[in-house]
Amino acid sequence: MKKIAVLGSTGSIGTQTLEVVRANPDLQVAALAAGSNVEKMERQIREFRPALACMWTTEAAEDLRQRVRDIDVKIVAGMEGLLEIAVFPESQVLVTAIVGMIGIRPTIAAIRAGKDIALANKETLVTAGHIIMPLAGECGVRILPVDSEHSAIFQSLNGEPADRIEKILLTASGGPFRGRNWEQLKEIRVEDALKHPNWVMGQKITIDSATLVNKGLEVMEAKWLFGVGLDRIQVVVHPQSIIHSAVQYVDGAVIAQLGMPDMKLPIQYALFYPDRRYMDGKRVDLFELGSLTFEKPDTDTFPGLALAYRAARLGGSMPTVYNAANEKAVALFLERKIEYLQIPELIGEAMESHRPIPDPGVEAVLEAEAETYEFIAGRMKR
Ligand code: NDP
Ligand code: MG
Repeated sequence: MKKIAVLGSTGSIGTQTLEVVRANPDLQVAALAAGSNVEKMERQIREFRPALACMWTTEAAEDLRQRVRDIDVKIVAGMEGLLEIAVFPESQVLVTAIVGMIGIRPTIAAIRAGKDIALANKETLVTAGHIIMPLAGECGVRILPVDSEHSAIFQSLNGEPADRIEKILLTASGGPFRGRNWEQLKEIRVEDALKHPNWVMGQKITIDSATLVNKGLEVMEAKWLFGVGLDRIQVVVHPQSIIHSAVQYVDGAVIAQLGMPDMKLPIQYALFYPDRRYMDGKRVDLFELGSLTFEKPDTDTFPGLALAYRAARLGGSMPTVYNAANEKAVALFLERKIEYLQIPELIGEAMESHRPIPDPGVEAVLEAEAETYEFIAGRMKR
């Protein structure tokens, strides 16, 4: 029996993780955490019977406590609650499916407590990869990628040493606006940006896919996960989302992982690694597909990707500024307070105004985040 804890259990990745649990009787849920969705958490508690559950606010936690009075489950709240879940002795693996930099502290705590991490929360590695990866090494825990591209790279690497990698080919669908130019993106509405061609995901990451910022974050994530320099990470636009990414080796061989776009596969792979379990669902039918196509990313129309490489090259606290500025800009766009094209503009401005701090500790990372939020708020008042 493998016991897991899930941060962000009510979200897109969280609910798909629980679907994987449902299909595998030897997986058990030890603890769950969510933000404010009390109804959904109550349903999850009744079905999966965790011993511990956390809501972000004390009000939500109190509401939940009342709802599940008849069940033997401890309800906790806030960052303290997330940390308690992260180190919960009964669980062996922490699934980080929470959105945002709030994932950093619980991930660090879980690593210190010797838990393997099934990592979906990309903000953690983007902003604190320089802390997380060496710590995981010291503590002998595994960081198992859940992001589909990184899972594909991980599967394609299977056992090969990092110095045999010539290039990582990180695929991108190109999002709903692939093929358009800057001029054509002026009128984009929230509804247009929320329509992803191949994947159904949380709102924030769906917007990030439309701006290619998601791919930028994934380039940084790949750099930390696989220890490969930025000049050896090539983004390849592949609109069908069948090849989830590939590794090119020193002998010219390219090994890729293909599959239908379904996050349950990378989630299940992370939870059972190195075992590959049966999974129900549609198979890739090459005859039905007929052809797979590839393009270079258009960084003029989608400057969010070029800015990510720039932030990663500058390093230190700059990736945090990139991430935090994007997070705020996306929230403002979803509230219809800014235009679509202002998202990369605001990221660029925030980066311009920041002097990167080299090798920042967790405190400095969180300060850079707060500073960036203030910058964007100030910029909006002008
Ligand atoms: P969602 O927005 O669907 O879900 C976010 C989850 O986090 C929800 O359960 C939410 O709870 C919870 N949450 C938010 N704030 C807090 C908080 N303060 N304390 C505790 N829980 C909180 O996001 P996704 O599932 O789409 O994405 C999660 C992460 O995985 C992101 O980092 C994303 O980039 C990454 N990812 C997602 C993919 C996808 O296919 N969706 C693919 C690859 C990576 P509540 O419902 O109560 O608000
Ligand atoms: Mg991805």
